[in-house]
Amino acid sequence: MRLSRYFLPVLKENPSEAQIVSHRLMLRAGMIKQSSAGIYSWLPLGFKVLKKIESIVHDEQIRAGHIPMLMATMQPADLWRESGRYDDYGQEMLRIKDRHDRDMLFGPTNEEMITDIFRAHVSSYKDLPLTMYQVQWKFRDEIRPRFGVMRGREFYMKDGYNFDLSKEDALHAYNRHLVSYLRTYERMGLQAIPMRADGGPIGGDYTHEFLVLAETGESEVFYDSAVTDLTFGDRDIDYDSVEQCQAVLEEFTSRYARTDETHDEVVFQEQVPEERRRFARGIEVGQIFYFGTKYSESMGATVQGPDGKPVPVHMGSHGIGVSRLLGAIIEASHDDNGIIWPEGVTPFHCGIVNLKQGDDEADAACNQLYAALSAAGLDPLYDDRNERAGGKFATMDLIGLPWRITVGPRGLKNGVVELTSRRTGESEELSPEEAVKKVV
Ligand code: ATP
Ligand code: MG
Ligand code: MG
Ligand code: MG
Repeated sequence: MRLSRYFLPVLKENPSEAQIVSHRLMLRAGMIKQSSAGIYSWLPLGFKVLKKIESIVHDEQIRAGHIPMLMATMQPADLWRESGRYDDYGQEMLRIKDRHDRDMLFGPTNEEMITDIFRAHVSSYKDLPLTMYQVQWKFRDEIRPRFGVMRGREFYMKDGYNFDLSKEDALHAYNRHLVSYLRTYERMGLQAIPMRADGGPIGGDYTHEFLVLAETGESEVFYDSAVTDLTFGDRDIDYDSVEQCQAVLEEFTSRYARTDETHDEVVFQEQVPEERRRFARGIEVGQIFYFGTKYSESMGATVQGPDGKPVPVHMGSHGIGVSRLLGAIIEASHDDNGIIWPEGVTPFHCGIVNLKQGDDEADAACNQLYAALSAAGLDPLYDDRNERAGGKFATMDLIGLPWRITVGPRGLKNGVVELTSRRTGESEELSPEEAVKKVV
């Protein structure tokens, strides 16, 4: 992409409404534009990162054997009356009447809708296990939308649902989700720690939240510092193996790590040596639940078991805050000059800064770099505007691309360009070919 033809409305001043750094940087980098409280339009740069995050989520869900689909955003109230949640859910639910005076709602989550789909089409245990998921917009009329996309009212969420014949099978699905989530967050350059949590309005007491430690997080957490040493890495896992998935669950959840709702000070002090006890804040970027037959019983989602008798299916649901993740990643990875995108989610791989736009040699060298990076499958952003170098550098630092290649007549005389790492700030002079090789 050439910056002269792109839409990147960066702000020079700090927007006064933004209280935390990720919100500030997303506005300044021209990634989002507020439409009303907690509701945003995604401008091209923000949209690009959102799609990268979504694509990692899809990739890891499909790897785990889960099936993508897409449910409607608008739901009939009657479905929620069946489960009993229409009245329970309270004011976070956006309720709407259509022209025929029918009660509708904008889905805050989809347990009822997926259970309705399931009961309409599945009647035998032979069709189990089954896990389907979607990445879809949700609406929750949060009492205090704030921090930009971190606590929106309209937000993008991955939500998945498993259907199993027994509790044992459903717990395997739970463990599979835990493993796939660990992989997902690590690919985004994040450490998200599974912590024992509270079921909330989804229900069930078998649940973990995934938390990214950050001072600006809204959750209070208590944990054994040893949990921060764990990484999943690039292990090969067989998602069909009950033992392998269970072993990962045990490895990542046996040490003390809980949110404040489930925190128990006595157990904390008993289990964790004093020097490893930590109290901190975190951002909830996902949650997994096993809730048994809560929805299948109330909504009549049964299958015929091996003995011919009807049994309500065991279910769980599993969410990732896709749009919130942009905020979480920036909270975890930035400096005074702007965002520092991890390679896995960066909107462009490499910036090209032309120090002397209009100089034949510099223009030609930039065009060649652009072509070479594109041919290698990378997505470069070429700042071809007629601007001062300082302004071009500031924009590149703000939008946080991992690499910048700076091209100017003086360097080209010696056959070199400058390659700069956004994360370390280190620069080196290399031939254009070597610079491309390093970035690829
Ligand atoms: P919170 O405690 O932050 O209100 P939640 O527990 O109500 O979140 P879940 O029902 O577990 O949310 O939804 C799954 C994921 O969706 C959450 O882990 C979070 O990452 C994301 N999410 C929830 N509410 C919002 C919101 N208002 N804005 C952005 N993302 C959200
Ligand atoms: Mg909530
Ligand atoms: Mg929560
Ligand atoms: Mg939650």
